[in-house]
Amino acid sequence: MERRQVIPPGMTPAGDSAEVRPAHAITEVPVGQPTDERAGQVRVPGGTSTVRVPFLEHPIWRQRFPWLVQGVTGAGGSRPFDLALSGEARPRDVLERWEALGRATGAIRVVHGQQVHGVVIRLHGEGPAGLHISPRTDGHATRVPGVLLTVSVADCVPVSLVAPERRAVVLLHGGWRGIAAGIAERGVEFLSARLDARVHELYAHLGPAICGSCYQVGPEVHRSLRLPEPARPESIDLRAILAGRLRGAGIQEAHLTASTYCTLCSGGAFFSHRGGRTERQVTVLGISTRGCV
Ligand SMILES: [Zn+2]
Repeated sequence: MERRQVIPPGMTPAGDSAEVRPAHAITEVPVGQPTDERAGQVRVPGGTSTVRVPFLEHPIWRQRFPWLVQGVTGAGGSRPFDLALSGEARPRDVLERWEALGRATGAIRVVHGQQVHGVVIRLHGEGPAGLHISPRTDGHATRVPGVLLTVSVADCVPVSLVAPERRAVVLLHGGWRGIAAGIAERGVEFLSARLDARVHELYAHLGPAICGSCYQVGPEVHRSLRLPEPARPESIDLRAILAGRLRGAGIQEAHLTASTYCTLCSGGAFFSHRGGRTERQVTVLGISTRGCV
């Protein structure tokens, strides 16, 4: 399996050699392949139809946590798999894709939020089947098998947190505003304080997002994130910043991974807001109903 090291901001290669000696490093993993897909049955007049769902899993987590439902939808090539609920696609088509995603992942109840770059995290229990949308919510948590947590992104970072001993999960929408407001730390605290997980057992993954070369932002964003304030726009690496915050909240280095994909420069496997796309992919996290170990 391919493994590379990602260098957090402020760290530089040692000397002129290619060898780098970061103080901290995340395990970077390719999250599936852009051609991966699953089949989801959807209801249509007079019966059912099969929709192909471009779907990429975290390969290490698939092996380590077979009881987990986890992954991210892809852009889908010539037929965009757009899940934006307030985008430009026909609502009927978008809702059909959501239904297919739920079926393809074995979900009973799919929860999503009206994302506002805030820090509200909602705990989801059992409830009516189908898609449920919470108002003003950027974080979701559950311990109930069959409840599928989702966040939509197109450059922001989806943050997946797993507490294996408690079988509890949290999924966060990590844009710069939410990161500055402390959503990562809130997610760890939620698992610890509300769901009784031990912080040192937690695993975290930072999904496909815009990379540290592509994401140029103004001085005010640097200031909000408590980074040195540049005189002019400079790029930042949201995943490296999140990794630092998660480490600060107590997540073990060995339990932290990040996707290798950039939504903007990795060849169109994902939608990118900065790339001019209005579509959205969705990251999912939940506990399987299959009852496996
Ligand atoms: Zn990039």
